[in-house]
Amino acid sequence: MNREPVSRELFDEVMVPNYAPGNIIPVRGEGSRVWDQDGREFVDLQGGIAVTSLGHCHPGLVGVLQEQAEKIWHLSNVMTNEPALRLAKTLCDQTFADRVFFANSGAEANEAAFKLARRYAWEHYGPDKHEIISFTNSFHGRTLFTVSVGGQAKYLEGFEPAPGGIHHAEFNNLDSVKALISKEKTCAIVVEPIQGEGGVMPADPDFLKGLRQLCDDHNALLVFDEVQSGVGRTGHLYAYEMYNVVPDILTSAKGLGGGFPVAAMLATANAAKSLGVGTHGSTYGGNALACAVAQKVIDTVSQPEILKGVKARSDKLRKGMMDIGERYGIFSEVRGAGLLLGCVLTEKWQGKAKDFLNAGLDEGVMVLMAGANVIRLAPSLIIPETDIDDALERFEAAVKKLTA
Ligand SMILES: *Cc1c(COP(=O)(O)O)cnc(C)c1O
Repeated sequence: MNREPVSRELFDEVMVPNYAPGNIIPVRGEGSRVWDQDGREFVDLQGGIAVTSLGHCHPGLVGVLQEQAEKIWHLSNVMTNEPALRLAKTLCDQTFADRVFFANSGAEANEAAFKLARRYAWEHYGPDKHEIISFTNSFHGRTLFTVSVGGQAKYLEGFEPAPGGIHHAEFNNLDSVKALISKEKTCAIVVEPIQGEGGVMPADPDFLKGLRQLCDDHNALLVFDEVQSGVGRTGHLYAYEMYNVVPDILTSAKGLGGGFPVAAMLATANAAKSLGVGTHGSTYGGNALACAVAQKVIDTVSQPEILKGVKARSDKLRKGMMDIGERYGIFSEVRGAGLLLGCVLTEKWQGKAKDFLNAGLDEGVMVLMAGANVIRLAPSLIIPETDIDDALERFEAAVKKLTA
């Protein structure tokens, strides 16, 4: 086995340069604490970008991973497997959905959702009804289809021609959707209940209710991309429960595996019928190891005490960040829900989110950005209160230095 020492410098020599990772290399994690190569300790409010929903090396997850690793890892979809069936049953029992398709990433779950929406409309209404309406600043993944549905033009630059039949309306503006939707052409509206990458921007409840109505009036499917907002992140198993608006299709990934790559597309039985045998597939989708781990995540996160705990932690973290914002005049607003929070920088600090992220690292706290003007927090859903205290103290020290 290759045990050569490696350093951050090697990244620039051997990796495709599409990322600009921070200058430390974490080597070990436990709960919401992480240690780098030099043994420096950090409080993790990044959560692997809303992925490590139960923190690092959660004993329950380690346990099921080890247990399943000694039984069977992979079969492909020529055979089904017990963990996949159990997880699908659990997801159906715990949500609006009747059917599940497993994938490996958010983009793949969305790709399946968009293909299903097209296929459903094609089957029921004919090929003209293929248009997808999504929103400016939305994010749905980096495959060519999902990045085209996403509403950030910069991510598509140089990769055109994009797939056709995709329109972007303005988030939280129903009139802009009404201007684009039609019974003849629209097959689906795709929306994040809380835009994550786009700056932690929650949808207005009336906006989502209006989208549901527009879909019903125009025979279109409503797709919720809950890749970031799902799996307990908002203090509800899925954010649609908080809004009391039920989609036809929902995609889940990130927090679902707690750090193991797994994703799911959930659908009603009626919609799901349109992905008949041979219409879509994935070699790894439904992998036994992945599903065993995700099962443990869902079983844990769906417990009422855990979901209630998210709300308590959210209040504490939000208040702490608002206090820091006030003391140093850096935030105009702290928005979001549960443990997906966006601290919006004031006029004076526009474009400087990365500076705060780096200053945080220097003081031993890992935070995220969501665009250049928002500091995003997406920690473990079970982060200990004392870790929140330490994180806030360290972040304040970082802000103090940066603003001095
Ligand atoms: C992260 C994200 C995706 C893409 O997920 P990947 O696993 O990176 O493919 C899609 N939609 C939303 C809302 C996301 O936050």
